Amino acid sequence: MEFASHMQTALDEARAAADRGEVPVGAVVVAPGGQVIARASNRTRTLHDPTAHAEVLAIRAACAALGQERLPGHDLYVTLEPCPMCAAAISFARIRRLYYAANDPKSGGVAHGARVFSHAQCHHAPEVYDGIGSTEAEALLRAFFKSRRQ
Ligand SMILES: [Zn+2]
Repeated sequence: MEFASHMQTALDEARAAADRGEVPVGAVVVAPGGQVIARASNRTRTLHDPTAHAEVLAIRAACAALGQERLPGHDLYVTLEPCPMCAAAISFARIRRLYYAANDPKSGGVAHGARVFSHAQCHHAPEVYDGIGSTEAEALLRAFFKSRRQ
């Protein structure tokens, strides 16, 4: 199968989050056959829920749609390096491949901080691909935080 990136869909979700006044992060879950089965964006403010990160919401929606508790063979696209909570959720969900756009040295938990997937307690680590769409994702985040400071 030819590789088709779903990062643009995740970036669309990130833009939708920014329009709602949420930190612009979007995520997409893709089935083994290549179809998008869930897409979500950050909703911590809207839902009054500190765990309502895009990855968690997309994983929940995908599992609910499929009626299963894990997503083996599924891929997840997200516009920002997952935090430790989301990295753990990605591991629990048995996501096959993780694609993320922007690095997050401050709060990331994959290449930074807790580095959840390289921890001895991590029972499932996805293949990780970073940097796809990072320029656009970083621009969205920068514009969002700049507008909040004014
Ligand atoms: Zn997170």
